[in-house]
Amino acid sequence: MDTDCIFCKILTGDIPSLKVYEDESTYAFLDIHPVNTGHILVIPKRHSRNILDISDEDLASLTATAKKAAQALISTGAEGVNIITNNEKPAGQVVFHTHWHIVPRYEGDGFTHWRGTARSEEEMEAKRQELEKKLQDMHRAA
Ligand code: 5GP
Ligand code: ZN
Repeated sequence: MDTDCIFCKILTGDIPSLKVYEDESTYAFLDIHPVNTGHILVIPKRHSRNILDISDEDLASLTATAKKAAQALISTGAEGVNIITNNEKPAGQVVFHTHWHIVPRYEGDGFTHWRGTARSEEEMEAKRQELEKKLQDMHRAA
């Protein structure tokens, strides 16, 4: 529990929320400013900042609840679902309690994805090597 965190306050009931699901370790509720109606936020009950510091255990629970939420949206009329998580300010994170957006989508609803552009082979290969080394080191250290 982080006393300055608005999602912790939602968990304690100090801030009201429109709950759609709850279990021992996760909580799901409607986003106050939905992209489409039914936009769900799924959060762990134990405070973490984002994907960079959540425990593997809480992450597994969060994933399971996200899957349920996505299936419930499809069962109630959504035609597709985006699962999005913004991590740190440059990526658009505003609330610093781990949360995944489960966004119902409809054909022609007008929301578009970001567009990628091609990069040089050298740039791609240099980043590939850097990341591969880092991931190997992390795997060895785990
Ligand atoms: P972020 O940009 O951090 O990924 O998204 C934070 C999300 O939390 C936003 O989509 C915003 O609408 C939602 N949000 C912020 N404050 C509240 C609140 O008090 N109640 C609910 N239900 N959603 C909130
Ligand atoms: Zn919190």
